[in-house]
Amino acid sequence: MALGIPSTRSDHAQTVRDLLAAGDRSFSFEFMPPRNEEGERKLWDAIRRVESLEPNFVCMTYGAGGSSRGRTVDLVGRIATETTLTPVAHITAVDHSVAELRNIIGQYADQNVRNVLAVRGDPPGDPMGEWVRHPEGVTYAAELVELIKGIGDFCVGVAAFPQMHPRSGNWDEDIRHFVAKCRAGADYAITQMFFEVEDYLRLRDRVAAAGCDTPIIPEIMPVTNSRQLVRFPQLSGSDFPDDFRRKLESVIDDPAAVRAVGLEHATAMAERLLAEGAPGLHFITLNHSTSTLEIYQNLGLHTR
Ligand code: FAD
Repeated sequence: MALGIPSTRSDHAQTVRDLLAAGDRSFSFEFMPPRNEEGERKLWDAIRRVESLEPNFVCMTYGAGGSSRGRTVDLVGRIATETTLTPVAHITAVDHSVAELRNIIGQYADQNVRNVLAVRGDPPGDPMGEWVRHPEGVTYAAELVELIKGIGDFCVGVAAFPQMHPRSGNWDEDIRHFVAKCRAGADYAITQMFFEVEDYLRLRDRVAAAGCDTPIIPEIMPVTNSRQLVRFPQLSGSDFPDDFRRKLESVIDDPAAVRAVGLEHATAMAERLLAEGAPGLHFITLNHSTSTLEIYQNLGLHTR
């Protein structure tokens, strides 16, 4: 099914806010800082392949701790200066003082990077462990959004959770806190990975019912190998739909078939999300662009 190429492409320094306000659907890809030189080579290979598709933006995640944090800043700077892509820099509040957060945002300002995605981050080691606020830091993403907005004219994205954030006690609480991030100045949200379109639609309806019209971009994460049958439900906080899990389990010993079932499911989700009016699609790459590019091409979004 050919869905058509987005009507206008982003220019280098465009904000995601302007892009969404112009009514364009946004198509974006996410990368993460590599651990070593081999990983760095793979990352740049993936970035160059994605670049040829002219996505609206690309995200670089921020490590929960350690040396990968500085690498995010460097990589975002290189994407801004050495490619035609518009980078969105993730930043997390965990284990940072306000002064450190200001310093990182200042480095982005110096590089003319205006797009940031503000998340609170999980405790290093155990994501569901006790969240300890840095003595001179902030506690929730809403405060981080407010801080960044107070520093300058940044376009700030936040996280949304189609199956509810695992720390939220109930949906009312979850939506109230999500809306608070939007009221603090968030321009758009990107979701956690999910595997059932209805979960996204229900979240969107709940947020709209709370009087909030912040665009929520769904994240697409294809299953490409059998290990992910365990890993992805852990990461996303919810199981796969029964029929999808059954299909995957029926071909579990055939790696090519697992990949084919995963890509078919992700493509079908992406088509339906666009048909339901989602403001775009955000593809996770895990720094291997092959499967996400295949879905992008299955959708007829690029004809080269
Ligand atoms: P918050 O919005 O602060 O919410 C966290 C919890 O606190 C929720 O349960 C919320 O309901 C509750 N809460 C919020 N405000 C209040 C309040 N005032 N009082 C009481 N409770 C409250 N992690 C990384 O380490 N690096 C990344 O680059 C990264 N990128 C991500 C990108 C996306 C699109 C997504 C979906 C997640 C990403 N994460 C990343 C993971 C993220 O840091 C975790 O999922 C984290 O647990 C949630 O962050 P948040 O910004 O949604 O937190």
